[in-house]
Amino acid sequence: MKLVNNLILILNLALSLTGYTKLFSKSGHHTSLTPSTISHCPAKQINLPEAELISDPQVAIIGSGPSGMGSAIYLGRANGDSPKRNIMVIEGELAGGTPMKAGTIQNYPGIPDIEGPDLMTSMREHALQNNVQFVPQKVTKVDFSSSPFKLELSGGQTIKSPAVIIATGNKPISTNVPGEKEHIGKGVAFCANCDGPFFKNKVIAVIGGGYGALRETGQLKQFASQIFIINKNDQLKGPDMLLNHANDPKVTVLNNCDLNEIVGNGTKVCAIKYTNLKTKEIKTLNVEGVFVALGQIPNSYIFKDQVTFNDKNEIVVDCQTLQTSVPGVWAVGDVTDKSMHQIPTAVGEGYKAGLNAESYLKKLKAK
Ligand SMILES: Cc1cc2nc3c(=O)[nH]c(=O)nc-3n(C[C@H](O)[C@H](O)[C@H](O)COP(=O)(O)OP(=O)(O)OC[C@H]3O[C@@H](n4cnc5c(N)ncnc54)[C@H](O)[C@@H]3O)c2cc1C
Repeated sequence: MKLVNNLILILNLALSLTGYTKLFSKSGHHTSLTPSTISHCPAKQINLPEAELISDPQVAIIGSGPSGMGSAIYLGRANGDSPKRNIMVIEGELAGGTPMKAGTIQNYPGIPDIEGPDLMTSMREHALQNNVQFVPQKVTKVDFSSSPFKLELSGGQTIKSPAVIIATGNKPISTNVPGEKEHIGKGVAFCANCDGPFFKNKVIAVIGGGYGALRETGQLKQFASQIFIINKNDQLKGPDMLLNHANDPKVTVLNNCDLNEIVGNGTKVCAIKYTNLKTKEIKTLNVEGVFVALGQIPNSYIFKDQVTFNDKNEIVVDCQTLQTSVPGVWAVGDVTDKSMHQIPTAVGEGYKAGLNAESYLKKLKAK
């Protein structure tokens, strides 16, 4: 048995040197073959191939998170025409999207427990098997005034496509208080799964009082010695399962409190200042970490004046078709006004838009 274990150890070492993580477990069971560059942290993302010469696609999908991958997989599989359509995903800065930072996912149907990066890697492989082309760049400007639509890429090239699916997701809202910007990565964090382990046995604050703040608190409990939730409103908001995190003896909820400042010396955080909105008292709390969990803003600015937005700068889509105000342009996932901000719903929306783009292209061809 010892000999078998040693052989497995040598094999795993050889694989790790070639860029792959464990292929075999000690029990001898086959485990997944995953590029070792994939992890929870945004700094380590899916390995991107070098950009090839980019030809104009029949469908351009902007974004490579769950919603973009839903569209890509649907369209790749529906791609029965001869010659085959060119389905392109322009990946953006975060290849694989938000799940690359989301840690363990437990609500994806049929997969009870999977790491976000593993889920996104398998979606990407699924799309690649269906000849979807991935471009490791971002879209910097669009012109939807006439079809085919024009997309400028960060590499300098402009591509044209008769059908575009916007799947650009959203990003976290900043506190905008003094001290946040200069302490990002030095005590200020936005992702418990990525940065939680840095705050082992430390006193920290979570800023926010909704779903995101409760979720982050739940993850941070395993690391921090004490957590203060700074909540502007008079009570926390979220499902019972998440509200239970606030009942942990490690957690203190400070309702009706508004953050004023994150105090530090430029290399580390040592305190926060906040106002009790009821008593108007300004207080200082010694903490070594601040997790900002105030929600997200849509990554929609490049589409401003091209498609209709709501007052939150989310892209307005038809709930049946997911089409934007421009025929031939769809929007899916967290960037829209209809999203439930979940991976399964994002994938579903991606599929739906892919299906609609497919029949749109067929109608165009028939004309
Ligand atoms: C910490 C955390 C934990 C979460 N946990 C869960 C969970 O357990 N279960 C669950 O269902 N949901 C979870 N979610 C929510 C889920 O991750 C999102 O709802 C989902 O990822 C949305 O998918 P999306 O494709 O719309 O956007 P995203 O996943 O955000 O992907 C957006 C994509 O657009 C790209 N992009 C942006 N701008 C451009 C541009 N200009 N050009 C090209 N590409 C661009 C980005 O690179 C990225 O690839 C979690 C979210 C967070 C923040």
